[in-house]
Amino acid sequence: MTGGPQFTDRSAVGGGPAPEGGQRDPSAALANLARLAPPTFVRCMHTLGNPTDFPPALTELLPDNVLPIPLDTLTQTLVAPDGSARLHSAWLAASTGTNRSGFAHVASAGPLVSTTGITVESPYLVVTIYDLTGVEGFDVLVATMEPTVDPNRADTPRTAFRLHLDHWGNIVDCTDEVLEILGRRPSDFIGRAARSIMHTDDLDAALTAWRQALTSPEMPRPGRVRIQHVDGSWRWFEYVNWNALADPTVRAVVTELLDVDEQVRVEQLGVASSRAHERLVRVLDEVDDIVLMGRADTGLVYWNRTAERHLDDLRTGVPIADLMNPAMRELSESVIRPMIERLERWQGDIDVTFRDGTVHTMAGTVTPVLDGADDIYFGVILRDVTAERSHAQELRQLARLDPLTSLPNRLGLVELLQASEARDMTVCFLDLDHLKVVNDGLGHGAGDKLLIATADALRSVAGHGTVTRFGGDEFVVIHPDLGGVDQAVVFAETLLESVRGIQVPEISRRVSASLGVVWTQIEDLDPEKLITDADTAMYDAKRRGRGRVSRFDFGQRESITRRFVMETALQSAIANDEIDVHLQPVVQVPDRRIIGFEALARWGVVSPAEFVPTAEESGLIIPLGKRVMDLSLQHLARVDQHLASADRSGDLSTPPPRVAVNVSGRELLEPDFAARTLETLSEHGFDPERLALEITESVLIDTSDEVEGSLRLLRDAGVSLVLDDFGTGYSSIAYLRRYPVDGLKLDNSYTRALLSQTDTRVIAETIISLAHRLGMSIVAEGVEDEAELAVLVDLGVSLVQGYLLSHPLPIDDLLLGPLGDHSTSLDQA
Ligand code: C2E
Ligand code: CA
Ligand code: CA
Repeated sequence: MTGGPQFTDRSAVGGGPAPEGGQRDPSAALANLARLAPPTFVRCMHTLGNPTDFPPALTELLPDNVLPIPLDTLTQTLVAPDGSARLHSAWLAASTGTNRSGFAHVASAGPLVSTTGITVESPYLVVTIYDLTGVEGFDVLVATMEPTVDPNRADTPRTAFRLHLDHWGNIVDCTDEVLEILGRRPSDFIGRAARSIMHTDDLDAALTAWRQALTSPEMPRPGRVRIQHVDGSWRWFEYVNWNALADPTVRAVVTELLDVDEQVRVEQLGVASSRAHERLVRVLDEVDDIVLMGRADTGLVYWNRTAERHLDDLRTGVPIADLMNPAMRELSESVIRPMIERLERWQGDIDVTFRDGTVHTMAGTVTPVLDGADDIYFGVILRDVTAERSHAQELRQLARLDPLTSLPNRLGLVELLQASEARDMTVCFLDLDHLKVVNDGLGHGAGDKLLIATADALRSVAGHGTVTRFGGDEFVVIHPDLGGVDQAVVFAETLLESVRGIQVPEISRRVSASLGVVWTQIEDLDPEKLITDADTAMYDAKRRGRGRVSRFDFGQRESITRRFVMETALQSAIANDEIDVHLQPVVQVPDRRIIGFEALARWGVVSPAEFVPTAEESGLIIPLGKRVMDLSLQHLARVDQHLASADRSGDLSTPPPRVAVNVSGRELLEPDFAARTLETLSEHGFDPERLALEITESVLIDTSDEVEGSLRLLRDAGVSLVLDDFGTGYSSIAYLRRYPVDGLKLDNSYTRALLSQTDTRVIAETIISLAHRLGMSIVAEGVEDEAELAVLVDLGVSLVQGYLLSHPLPIDDLLLGPLGDHSTSLDQA
């Protein structure tokens, strides 16, 4: 069985030679023989190749119906001539390899005939040679021949390529299979030194084999070598060098390289090589996950191709920590080892640096397996989740960020509070007082600018605090370790001050906000509760007149609940006609003639000071306002009727009384407010002159051109416009210039101050004279006693309103009381 290989023949050859010093274990060969399936032809040979009988012990081992070949048939004669090289190779592999078996797929020379006369026609044969020499009772080689019609035998995982080397070991030719096996073209290898394509660890053995091929061509020395796949992984090959330098048709050393990668790695797993295991390994190689297997004491025993592609320095038998890149080493030391000791499964993400330097987030699972008493294996599976994690991270971040201001949002805020390690925490809940009005009046662009400016302003003074956007017009600023509630309030004031300084070109007014602050020691930090408390305090600030800071106290918690209850109740009250309107006479001094009435909304015992702000905040002010307007005009009709029955309507010297209705900013912003009001007037049959609208300054502060247009329309139609609570807001004078105003109402607080505080009194006097100079009417409200009235009269005020003259009254009481005797003046007390 000698002869050179035929370079043109690219079918498989095989074998399983072991590296120098490898253990040659016959048990696998025996086990495989015992598993032979018919029809398999079998023969025994001595070491030199002479056919011999089956040792009795072996006959017992073989399945009954395998077919012995007659002794006088030489093995070579069964194989077509071009298969003899492979047969030789298989023989060599069996005599030297760890598995004691060699394999060849060859064309057959003719039909196979058994000792029992069974004849099988078979174009190809799968020949396996098992070396049982040295095994007691056997001491033979066994050749098995499986007939096959398949020239490639699909279940044969083995593939091979060949190199032609010149005298100096340079590659002069290479077969095409190299593309399939290593992803490389023959031209990638041709011209290179053979040693340059091998793994450095395998060079020594390869050099010895090379020398042997040159010096003793008749005794080729097979071995194993690793060659790098184009994907970076190293693949195992078994090689035999055939020295055909002297053969004039070849003139080269032919190196046959058989792909035994899976087989080798199965061996590394510590199990006997078998097709089943190889298939398993092949499956593991196909997965994109990195799969590693190791022993707790000795380190890695197996890794798949994906591992080899990505990780450097994978070697067997060395403690795992010494092999791996830093991340893996840390994983090994800090996670795997302790877990393995406790026989616990570990799962988690680790960052792994790949061979190309990129860092990947890997979802890892480490599973310890107890194999026998204290032989502990562990399996590591690492899945690259870099993309998923970074996407998830992005989403997580996005979900915690307000896109407009780039501030953390509500979710972010809660997490920040949860993560806080501060000793104490200050939470400031800030609500812009008029964002809705800006949005509705100037458009959302202006609203957005206001929000961004607010974010910037807060950030500029927040120091170590963090500004977050809680929702629409709400910001929450948190600050750790301010040390006490007083410092917290100072911080809150600073925030509010920064908001007052905001300049947005489109918005002419000063920005104001209401702020609730809560300070807490960290022991009772409950993010949700803290925020709710700060919110409650903020509502309190709003209630108390906006533009201020309110500190949370526990009574407020109750009030916030009340607010929600009230909202629902108010809604049904409006729907069920439970809203009433009382009229308070406005009289002219000195004769105290009633010239008109202020219409004031009433809802049972609930004060308008409470339900009107609730209505404004919830939007219920729109239906409420309509209802009040309607009732006011109904009442005015009753007054007219009453007066007509007293036959005073013909008195031309007395203009008919007017009704003054309070309107909120939200109502004015309704685009159809003017038209609707005029319509209601005509439905009730009133001239527009009979109506006055009392507008609060804070409403005008935010007005737009549309509001201004509406007001002009109403005024041109004859409706009077009165600025309510004049002198309590800011920029009052500017509004007088901008808006078509007929009159002012001097607020209760000025009336009250006339007798005491001199400064305030001066302002009151100024307002009164201002009204006179601009030719505006002025009504002083809240007149409770004669002394106040006297001062007012002194100051030139002729129109007054207050308890002194009459409380606001239901229409029936009004008709019976102040208008009872059909008079239109109120008696002097
Ligand atoms: P306002 O426009 O300043 O109304 C005058 C308030 O002074 C009324 O309070 C009235 O009852 C009260 N008052 C009248 N005379 C005296 C007095 O001699 N001494 C004192 N201390 N108070 C006097 P009221 O009825 O509680 O209304 C409170 C506020 O609610 C009103 O203040 C007004 O801003 C608002 N409001 C009432 N009705 C309506 C409504 O229908 N629509 C709107 N938008 N607001 C309304
Ligand atoms: Ca009023
Ligand atoms: Ca007032």
